[in-house]
Amino acid sequence: MKIALIAHDRKKEEIVQLAMAYAAILSQHTLFATGTTGLRIMEATGLPVTRVLSGPMGGDQQIGAMIARNEMDLIIFLRDPLTAQPHEPDITALLRLCDVHKIPFATNLATAEILLKALQGGELDWRDVVHKENEQK
Ligand code: PGA
Repeated sequence: MKIALIAHDRKKEEIVQLAMAYAAILSQHTLFATGTTGLRIMEATGLPVTRVLSGPMGGDQQIGAMIARNEMDLIIFLRDPLTAQPHEPDITALLRLCDVHKIPFATNLATAEILLKALQGGELDWRDVVHKENEQK
């Protein structure tokens, strides 16, 4: 499965802790992240992460483009609810595309853990069916 990991600056430490705690699960999947988040996760866990641009520079939109093609299977985006973000429209667009394609999307640590456990338990395996259908189109 393809998993996107994004965290706003004040949530970077949280996503690093999450990635370390769930490294065994994450290592079985293909990881993508926005620039700084990806760097922090790679440094802390040694997991391979494909990095796109930093969020404010268009990284959220790059992840969004993958969601639009229905390629991304799970999004963990630890947002900072207390700080205004210059790229708020990009964040809203990302959420919207996840709703269009019914992609699981966690915006806080509690939901992120539930989704990662669901992933481990095979509850997102239906995404493989979606990918097969896409290939046939
Ligand atoms: P960053 O981008 O990982 O490059 O900091 C995340 C964001 O702010 O959307």
